[in-house]
Amino acid sequence: MKSFLSESRVVIEEGMEIKSPRELLAMERAGRVVAHTLAALQAAVEPGIRTRDLDAIARTEIARHGAVPSFVGYRGFPASVCVSINDEIVHGIPGDKVIREGDLVSLDVGAIVDGFHGDAAVTVGAGEITPQAQELIDATRDALVAGIQAAGAGARIGDISAAVQALAESRGYSVVREYVGHGIGRRMHEEPSVPNFGKPGRGMLLKKGMALAIEPMLNVGTWRTRQLEDNWTVVTADGSLSAHFEHTIAITEDGPMILTQL
Ligand code: MG
Repeated sequence: MKSFLSESRVVIEEGMEIKSPRELLAMERAGRVVAHTLAALQAAVEPGIRTRDLDAIARTEIARHGAVPSFVGYRGFPASVCVSINDEIVHGIPGDKVIREGDLVSLDVGAIVDGFHGDAAVTVGAGEITPQAQELIDATRDALVAGIQAAGAGARIGDISAAVQALAESRGYSVVREYVGHGIGRRMHEEPSVPNFGKPGRGMLLKKGMALAIEPMLNVGTWRTRQLEDNWTVVTADGSLSAHFEHTIAITEDGPMILTQL
């Protein structure tokens, strides 16, 4: 079986769940652990640090908050964080690689509290990065915000997809198609898929109590991807730079609520 942390369209097993207020509280706690962990990782990214050192920080942070990492053992994934550098889009495995000045570093973390998952990602620069790299980061973060803003109760999944795609393409970037966002809860990946491309008004109706991970992946060049021989790391097919931002959100009466921010 192909391995994914950002779920593929082909591997969806069960229906979307509506969470109770109590379950959403657990998800809020899981989300907060993820946010704390990403903040610690972000602060640690600098030229010279090894990606396995980042994994140690993630493992320590998640444990310190009494949570369990979502990624360790997920389809055999060996670490608590995915670290994806430059043309790596998602699912990079921490190891001996040393981060260099100017690198674009995508960090993706999941944590479990009381049986519920939180999942989020950020892309940061190591040291000085080029203005082009900074623009890609800004556009990807803006695409996530646009997607979240489209996720009100009564909207449809396609509204999120279209909002992300429109923002990305208006800045001249392509959106990855083969890896998408997902429902989230007792399992890290639940229905529905949340693609970063699509048409407004299509797809599942969003209802109060649903929880989604929205995660735009934007490339400077082609949207096409390739998986490395480690069977995890996904890179851009043309070697161009890529960035990734993700939040877990809950659909509420008052609009989308971000669970993975401090
Ligand atoms: Mg995810």
